[in-house]
Amino acid sequence: MSTSRITHLVGGAPWTGVAERTSPVYNPATGAVTGELDLASAATVDEVVKVAHEASKAWGATSLTKRAQVLFGFRELLNQRKEEIAALITAEHGKVLSDALGEVTRGLEVVEFACGIPHLLKGGYSENVSTKVDVYSIRQPLGVTAVISPFNFPAMVPLWFVPIAVACGNSVVIKPSEKDPSAVNAVAALWKEAGLPDGVVNVLHGDKEAVDRLLEHPDVKSVSFVGSTPIARYVYEKGTAHGKRVQALGGAKNHMVVLPDADLDLAADAAVNAGFGSAGERCMAISALVAVEPIADELVSKIASRMATLKTGDGTRGCDMGPLVTGPHRDKVVGYVSSGVDEGAALVVDGRSQEIDGAADGFWLGPTLFDKVTPEMSIYRDEIFGPVLSVVRVPSYDAALDLVNSNPYGNGTAIFTNDGGAARRFQNEVEVGMVGINVPIPVPMAYYSFGGWKNSLFGDTHAHGTEGVHFFTRGKVVTSRWLDPTHGGLNLGFPTHD
Ligand code: NAD
Repeated sequence: MSTSRITHLVGGAPWTGVAERTSPVYNPATGAVTGELDLASAATVDEVVKVAHEASKAWGATSLTKRAQVLFGFRELLNQRKEEIAALITAEHGKVLSDALGEVTRGLEVVEFACGIPHLLKGGYSENVSTKVDVYSIRQPLGVTAVISPFNFPAMVPLWFVPIAVACGNSVVIKPSEKDPSAVNAVAALWKEAGLPDGVVNVLHGDKEAVDRLLEHPDVKSVSFVGSTPIARYVYEKGTAHGKRVQALGGAKNHMVVLPDADLDLAADAAVNAGFGSAGERCMAISALVAVEPIADELVSKIASRMATLKTGDGTRGCDMGPLVTGPHRDKVVGYVSSGVDEGAALVVDGRSQEIDGAADGFWLGPTLFDKVTPEMSIYRDEIFGPVLSVVRVPSYDAALDLVNSNPYGNGTAIFTNDGGAARRFQNEVEVGMVGINVPIPVPMAYYSFGGWKNSLFGDTHAHGTEGVHFFTRGKVVTSRWLDPTHGGLNLGFPTHD
């Protein structure tokens, strides 16, 4: 099979330089190498940031009306091409086509939010704060912004940031995951078609070398990072040490608490969907199911019977679940399944021995269910990021809450119950950034903000919504008066108001 070269997109065109290093891109459903990706050196980062910096000057001075028009045009193009982009995601990430399409749709919602930028950037105005003195606030672009994204949502995660950064008048350098880079290139190319000036949105492919240079570069003013917790912490510390504003979203271990009064059929459906959708490679996947006794036996049996109907295989063939993203990642997840068995958890459904509808060399692992998992086990402690669901049995609501709140991650959580009082207590008491009540994957809409607590977010600003607009702009407050003779006279005291 032939492989294609995948390169940076700079100033509206593919990069024409020669890369010193490249990295293979795989189709996870076949195991074949389908592309060779250019990895940027520090010098290439400087080249791209220079282009972005130049472009940011004119774009930042472009009227809100014109910016909004470009956003509307981009929205139309993205909507028209969403199937094409979904196919690219499936070919390199492996998630099934319907899931890939869902990801693009959730990204589109952020574009639609950003179309309202003239309204979102309205400042405040206070007339006559002192006699004939007015005060008003404005928000201005930062300049060059960097977006560093993970493999698991190659289109959606960049779309959490880029439309808002652009709408706010910034230029952007996107550094996608090396594992599935093509969807980002395809989405970025649409900006040019929508009328965005060249150089405002650029894609820079690379690994640690590129990230490190972006974090140090004096012309990069902000960093929006999404990825695993150790790298998120590193990016936050290094980026802020270099004077940048940084929002760094990290990993997760999301708990779904099921209270004894819940509808167990609906809870079992939700657990299967949220545990195994996208092969568990979602930062909002449910990986720990907390069953409040006495329902665990019945719930586990309902989940296992649903899992028996799932078809794992090639994402283009109408299967429920696709492969894992790479061979080494699949092997790591399989290693966790072995540890779970060794550590004494009850393996109810073993994904290692399931029938697969796909090529023999694909990166397969079927859905796996463990029961009687305890908090000391590695399958509970670590973010596995694969199709492995662990059931932890607890005696009471208080024990369930303690478990969730003791976990070092705080991205998403859900409670399943018909008791409004219990749900309300949970939403108030749980130390997690995004909470679902009978909703297993509570990803906020674009006009709210996405982000976790504790080790799931470094920095204080969540993605998109008004927090996104705030992140991508700097505030300025102007105090103004139009001088007339009443303002005359000498007074060296600190100004007060009259
Ligand atoms: P990752 O941390 O390996 O990679 C993320 C980005 O960091 C990539 O662009 C990668 O090139 C870069 N990178 C990797 N190692 C680096 C290093 N040593 N120095 C500098 N940069 C480096 O994450 P991943 O495996 O691509 O994605 C999965 C992780 O992302 C999971 O932990 C998942 O929970 C998390 N995630 C979190 C959210 C959220 O909103 N909190 C959303 C999606 C994914």
